[in-house]
Amino acid sequence: MNRIATRAMAILILVLAMVAGLVFFLFDFLINGDKWVAFPGSPHVYYDSKASPVTLMDRDGQILSVLSGDRTYAQDEAVRKATLHWVGDRLGNISVPAVGYYSKEFVEYDPVNGVYKYGGTERNIQLTLSASLQAVALEAMGDYVGTVAVYNYQTGEILCAVTTPTYDPDNVPDIDGDLTGAYTGVYVNRFLQSKYIPGSIFKIVTLAAALETVPNIREQTFSCTGAYAVGSGEVTCESIHGRQSLKQAFANSCNCAFAQIVGQIGKDKLNYYVQQFGVTDAITFDGITTAAGNFDLTDAGPESVAWSGIGQYKDLVNPCGFLMFVGSIARNGVRYQPHVVSQVTIGSERTYSAKPESVEPIMSRATAEVLQEYMAYNVTYKYGAENFPGLTVCAKSGTGEVGGDRKPNAMFTGFVSDPAYPLAFMVAIEDGGYGARTCVPVISKVLQACKTAIDTQEVG
Ligand SMILES: [Zn+2]
Repeated sequence: MNRIATRAMAILILVLAMVAGLVFFLFDFLINGDKWVAFPGSPHVYYDSKASPVTLMDRDGQILSVLSGDRTYAQDEAVRKATLHWVGDRLGNISVPAVGYYSKEFVEYDPVNGVYKYGGTERNIQLTLSASLQAVALEAMGDYVGTVAVYNYQTGEILCAVTTPTYDPDNVPDIDGDLTGAYTGVYVNRFLQSKYIPGSIFKIVTLAAALETVPNIREQTFSCTGAYAVGSGEVTCESIHGRQSLKQAFANSCNCAFAQIVGQIGKDKLNYYVQQFGVTDAITFDGITTAAGNFDLTDAGPESVAWSGIGQYKDLVNPCGFLMFVGSIARNGVRYQPHVVSQVTIGSERTYSAKPESVEPIMSRATAEVLQEYMAYNVTYKYGAENFPGLTVCAKSGTGEVGGDRKPNAMFTGFVSDPAYPLAFMVAIEDGGYGARTCVPVISKVLQACKTAIDTQEVG
């Protein structure tokens, strides 16, 4: 009797679990069915041979790819390579990040009938990217591995964001058979999905936190003897910087000074401001969610906290996320949402059009203005204003030590402060060595091309 009761109970539990599962599935299906249909992994929906093709264009109307039964790509090889991580490949190894999201607009769907109608005859998605700037950025990267990106901090438009390594989708190399490592991580859009040890570009974050919370920080001086004892260890510099103002310590990228600054901010406040600035947040736009960075002081002693404020320890940043932080400095403390899709049209009807969209201020205007001044000084004092003719550039370099035998990541980020050229930029080069030395020639070429494009009104 007892055994029968136990079995009955077991069957009852199984039945209940099955019913619960069915109910859950049904709800999920009703609520999310349209998203599943438009998922980038369901590409047949938007380039089914029965449906009219979707044309992906750059900001000037140049065709980047036509998604139909068999895809076509841009005529120019450099453009094909430079835009691959935004338009995807034929095999689906690289998705089309924005198309999956906006293809909802193209498909008439309900849970009973499934996909019952494809959108009108001409379906176009216009990106904010410029094909010509993508090609310039790709050439400037040469054989480097990483990403370079520029966005308009007034409108949020991403003008270019190139990932290397890349390849020509019309002439696919033998990636699986390659033993040289030349194609490691080739399917990843590094701008959106990579995480890098930031090194000293993170000093922008620490400086911003200090300006927000330490009242007299700008009146202080900081001494550097090449090493600074903190906790049971020490923080070191590659040279002895001597006595410095805050501005000079930032321009020298003095680790000893920044260890002292971190000590004044304190662990909890540093952690608070990193969250407040959104430096490591995943960002969602156009149906894309970027990789989140990392800032974790849970088990950090004083020495580790100091290194975390210098962009080492467990710090990781995503290039897109950090670019948004830096762009907000240019925008006096207000962060703007990025966009990579400018408009979607079906036939003659425009179903989506991007608009500048601000998020609430992440820092005070006063803090942003000091950062603008100090980052401008970095360029005139250290990186060389002559590398950026006709542009007032504000910047900070970083050299992210990755450990082992590998060379550090070279990082460089900042913005142009001239109102005519509202451009913020980010460069991350893996195994690149010293940040400024490696990155300045790259971003110099890209910014000059952006300037020319704006001057000739190719990019408004
Ligand atoms: Zn120093």
